[in-house]
Amino acid sequence: MYYKICTGLPLVLFLGIGVYAQEGIHLMNARVFDGMDVHFGWSVVTKGNEIIYAGPAKPKGSYHEELDLSGHTLLPGLIEGHSHLFLHPYNETTWNDQVLKESYAERTVRAVNHANATLMAGFTTVRDLGTEGADYLDVGLRDAINKGLMAGPKMLVAGKAIVATGSYGPKGFAPHVGVPLGAEAADGVDLIRVTRDQIGHGVDVIKVYADYRWGLMGEAAPTFSISELKSIVETAHASGRQVVAHASSKEGMRRAILAGVTTIEHGDAADREIYDLMVAHDVALCPTLAAGDAIMQYRGWNKMSDSIPERIILKKKSFADALQSGVTICAGGDVGVFPHGENVRELEMMVDYGMSELEVLRSVTSTNARVFDMPDLGKIQSGFQADLIAVQGNPDTNISALRHVNVVMRQGKMYKSDLTSQH
Ligand SMILES: [Zn+2]
Repeated sequence: MYYKICTGLPLVLFLGIGVYAQEGIHLMNARVFDGMDVHFGWSVVTKGNEIIYAGPAKPKGSYHEELDLSGHTLLPGLIEGHSHLFLHPYNETTWNDQVLKESYAERTVRAVNHANATLMAGFTTVRDLGTEGADYLDVGLRDAINKGLMAGPKMLVAGKAIVATGSYGPKGFAPHVGVPLGAEAADGVDLIRVTRDQIGHGVDVIKVYADYRWGLMGEAAPTFSISELKSIVETAHASGRQVVAHASSKEGMRRAILAGVTTIEHGDAADREIYDLMVAHDVALCPTLAAGDAIMQYRGWNKMSDSIPERIILKKKSFADALQSGVTICAGGDVGVFPHGENVRELEMMVDYGMSELEVLRSVTSTNARVFDMPDLGKIQSGFQADLIAVQGNPDTNISALRHVNVVMRQGKMYKSDLTSQH
């Protein structure tokens, strides 16, 4: 395919740290998914860090650059709903060993690489839900990206996350051996202090583990009481922050929903009753399909030759129930369990488990932006942030087209352009 720049200066190719577009950029000849629907014959114009026009026909005026995106679909920058930039796949290094044996320096170097891979994969925003033992390094990483020191997505960060005493890992050590935890333990009234302390350290969102695998048989069982969860939510809300709950058991989910969290992460054992409660309380589900799939493969499941494990069958059923109930679905894969930059895996699995491509595209753009309270992201619309990507093909009929990202722009800066350009 042949692309050309009709007027103005040549498009600046990827330079690691983006180059600011001083004048407007006219993006043309692409199919445009605006966060809701697909449009044909639209033009999109950005200026500075904003979209200043999105609609039919070519708007008047001349532009610094014109970018011919024939054969591409232009979309809002994708929003990852559940990442851990400070983790890498458990088949490389177990979670315990990452928490206990990797230095903060190593974890930060890895996170810098992960942030870059995420952005290059077209994910211009991530909600990063816990450093897993790496203190508040996510706050520092977010700030370094915001200062322009490195290429990466916009980050909403959760810092240490909150767990109930006795529930979280690493576990399995002799009683006299103390090890640092992968999150911050607190209980009772102390939850108010810890929530405030995490806010004071600069987190954007509070993450709480409403259940954990600490049942008698190692099954997921509730951790906090409803009143404990409510005290976290009340404290976070007072500062304008949301609370997200890790929960996979029905009772853990029920308590988190009634306490007023914004999203439930995982939700594996949920059924129609729980989903109806989520709908009634306007709580969204972040199903993390790809993480469960990856973990089963790490445990030896051969997807090509083996029968489908019980856990996967149950997850598929639970996800089908979620779709039927009409609960809001956020796109978030728990990436870090599987490789950063492979975020699209979750979107492919959402389609595989029964969601339409168009609904998945809405979920990973406008829905995530709305649920995470980011009113100027997730849509291609005048006045929104110029976070845009172009992919080859039609992701609304083949979601895997999202693996072919040729253009990445964040806040009006071009971070990736594989299009050939000329005057
Ligand atoms: Zn997670």
